[in-house]
Amino acid sequence: MKKILITGGAGFVGSHLVDRLVKDKFKVTVIDNLSSGNINNLSKSFKKIDFIKIDISNYKKLDKSLKNKKFDYCVHLAALADIVPSINYPEDYFKANVEGTFNILNILKKQKISKIVYAASSSCYGFPNKFPTDENCMLNPQYPYALTKRLGEELVEHWGHIYKIPFISLRFFNIYGPRSRTSGTYGAVLGVFLAQKLAKKPFTVVGNGKQTRDFTYVDDIIEAICSALKSNVENQIFNVGSGNTYSINYLTKLIGGKKIYIPKRPGEPDCTYADISKIKKILKWKPKFSLEKGISEVINNISYWKDAPLWSPKTIKLATKDWFKYLS
Ligand code: UDP
Repeated sequence: MKKILITGGAGFVGSHLVDRLVKDKFKVTVIDNLSSGNINNLSKSFKKIDFIKIDISNYKKLDKSLKNKKFDYCVHLAALADIVPSINYPEDYFKANVEGTFNILNILKKQKISKIVYAASSSCYGFPNKFPTDENCMLNPQYPYALTKRLGEELVEHWGHIYKIPFISLRFFNIYGPRSRTSGTYGAVLGVFLAQKLAKKPFTVVGNGKQTRDFTYVDDIIEAICSALKSNVENQIFNVGSGNTYSINYLTKLIGGKKIYIPKRPGEPDCTYADISKIKKILKWKPKFSLEKGISEVINNISYWKDAPLWSPKTIKLATKDWFKYLS
């Protein structure tokens, strides 16, 4: 039985990955501080895994809890997400996303691990100058979340080369699907829209809604991580996207409901669109979910979002005050 450490395993992507790897007969250890992850996400697999509530920014505790375990693999998903809080509390983001990654690498350095898969973010490209955007395009993070995730990726690359920790970094584009976070700060668009749909309120469309995003369904993300783990390929960075880009207006059409327009936000690209030829060629992975298919899955599970915060133009304006202040 292969032993795997999943950091952030109680989160949106992490918990789907845990379910899948338990099914594939891995011996799974999850670490999560439950700050944005939710233990209920693990209800399916909880009895079959080791769960340790711990913060990756605490090296001493981490080392103590993990030093006698010998892992074959690690998938490092634990991170702080979202733009606004990263602008307000950049030190927290540095601690979790940079120092946390540094700590995980230093733990793994002492073990002869076969591979670490790092969850990187498409936000590293900022305003891409080429569409679809390939892995060699210029990096230009626009806010602390994006920068700290990129710094984490650099650490993984550097430690990988110096200390011989085989790695794969996956740059995820706009992940959506069941279990996406429903609480806390103003975040990913789909959760915002689904809560608005359930409350029969209009969708708060940013700008003219013609901007497009490469929305990638969570099952495709899980498949990409599994392909990265199981392949012999190492020390590579791959984009992971849907193979398409979809406008926000089209997204609202698929979900169905009225719209209201709110101001365009600074620091946001008008398009994100991954060039996925590299991962298709080298890892033989390809996405299976169109937005139409993914959204129909989400709508079938819409009750999951019943407790998600309900955002209105007024509360969004308040929540994004510092976003406009610092990024304009
Ligand atoms: N968006 C929107 N209304 C909202 C929140 C987001 O129209 O209430 C749009 C936003 O302008 C962007 C897209 O949805 O074009 C995705 O936003 P999200 O914050 O989910 O991801 P990111 O901007 O980081 O790609």
